[in-house]
Amino acid sequence: MDFQLNEEQLQLKKSVREFAQREIAPNVRKWDDAGEFPLATIKELGKLGLMGVVFPPELGGAGMGYVEYVTAIEELSRVDGSVGIIVAAHSSLCSNHIFLAGNEAQKKQYLPKLATGEFIGAWGLTEPSSGSDAGSARMTAVRKGKTWVLNGTKTFITNGHYADVVVVIAVSDRSAHTHGLSAFVVEKGTKGFRPGKKEDKLGLRASDTAELIFEDCVLPAENLLGTEGQGFVDSMRVLDGGRISIAALSLGMAEGAYEAALNYSKQRKQFGRAISDFQAIQWKLADMATEIEAAKLLTFRAAAMKDAGLKTTLESSMAKLFASEVAVKVANEGVQIHGGYGFIKDYPAEKFYRDVLEICDHRMDTAVCEIFQQLRSDVLALEHYGEQTAVLEDVCLFPVVVEKAEEGVSQLSLEDWFLDVDLLVYRLRHRTPARMWSTTTFAALLDVFLEFRFLDGVADIQSSEKCIENAFVESEGSWWVADFNQRKGAED
Ligand SMILES: Cc1cc2nc3c(=O)[nH]c(=O)nc-3n(C[C@H](O)[C@H](O)[C@H](O)COP(=O)(O)OP(=O)(O)OC[C@H]3O[C@@H](n4cnc5c(N)ncnc54)[C@H](O)[C@@H]3O)c2cc1C
Repeated sequence: MDFQLNEEQLQLKKSVREFAQREIAPNVRKWDDAGEFPLATIKELGKLGLMGVVFPPELGGAGMGYVEYVTAIEELSRVDGSVGIIVAAHSSLCSNHIFLAGNEAQKKQYLPKLATGEFIGAWGLTEPSSGSDAGSARMTAVRKGKTWVLNGTKTFITNGHYADVVVVIAVSDRSAHTHGLSAFVVEKGTKGFRPGKKEDKLGLRASDTAELIFEDCVLPAENLLGTEGQGFVDSMRVLDGGRISIAALSLGMAEGAYEAALNYSKQRKQFGRAISDFQAIQWKLADMATEIEAAKLLTFRAAAMKDAGLKTTLESSMAKLFASEVAVKVANEGVQIHGGYGFIKDYPAEKFYRDVLEICDHRMDTAVCEIFQQLRSDVLALEHYGEQTAVLEDVCLFPVVVEKAEEGVSQLSLEDWFLDVDLLVYRLRHRTPARMWSTTTFAALLDVFLEFRFLDGVADIQSSEKCIENAFVESEGSWWVADFNQRKGAED
């Protein structure tokens, strides 16, 4: 276990820090006051490779990993959270969706421009009436011959006014619920598409948060991103990576708020001494530093696991939850340590406090839900299969499926069931290679799905089986699929 950044990572940290001090720090107050988007700075970040840290060089990226990505977001956000969120939404939402779900032509068309900052990207899932419940989106995508026609409004979209390319999620088949959502790539200037209201925000004011309006926006069929009907499932995959971004953003802002408070406490004199000499202030600073360190460990652990190809849903959710709460606590204490000056714009404390409020709160309940679901899955796995399934956590939704099998499908809505199958398939695809799983895991999984075939109420179990077969084939488990088919034949 190595808790140190290596030489290259330290060098990256140093150069991002120097860039942020030189190019961002002198402008932070001006951008914040005016709500000014730092376009020239973002273009510079593109030239430095920081707009496509994790993408491969052949697609214009820097070819680095999530540890480096987190380091960059941390250092940028330490100076200005607005720059952090601009880069994070561009990279981990827009570019990453194209990277994960796009075909080769789409990747080649968009990623080199996004990764170098020539294009700025935005990602639109949220709508006025669908926030946390993103599956209830209303924006429509209607297929007309060789085109798609988009109608509807997205809201709160980061980089909305400045985006050259936007990924949006729309309903292509309402009857299929969350399996009827599809993703599309839309370029700036496409007829029928325009950014709408720019939000006037409490914090992160230099980042652009906008409405996106689609009115009979006609797209060629090839602008469909990924498989039709898979837009929601792909979005959940995208958000899985996005949690690490939010953790890094939170970590950076917490560090910035802490450093501002520490410096102020050394300079501010009361009762003839620097206030940092008072034990009450020292305790505050010690708590802040300790909690930041804990947030850093969680965040970098999630990033290192992602780089190692491991599942990080639990770890990245924990990192996001903890780091964002630490950011709010630290920023609050920073304001207190500044006394009355913490409330005044001449000092950075009040801005850090306003900025961190955006990342905490409204998205935290869903992070808690995700953590709970993950923990519950692991507990159930152990209860059902005991020690034989030490690697069952590889298939994190499996125990939920087992439990549902036992409850009887009739108690479930078909929509829930299919969502779980899709998430399961996604996790199978992105898990460690199949050869690392135990045969017990495979066999138990097989039994569950064979059992499902004989339960009433599942209309489309055959296609679910097909999905699982495909997932195993893709995840190098082809040897196992033969067994699956053999056993299926025996049951028939
Ligand atoms: C600055 C900023 C940038 C953003 N950037 C983007 C972007 O680039 N792209 C994009 O698509 N979206 C973006 N968003 C939208 C963001 O993802 C949503 O705000 C978020 O999903 C929450 O949705 P909502 O605001 O509609 O709140 P709601 O979903 O209406 O939630 C209101 C409250 O209810 C709670 N709540 C909701 N459901 C549950 C539940 N099941 N259990 C318990 N509590 C619950 C929430 O936690 C919250 O406290 C951005 C938002 C902001 C403020």
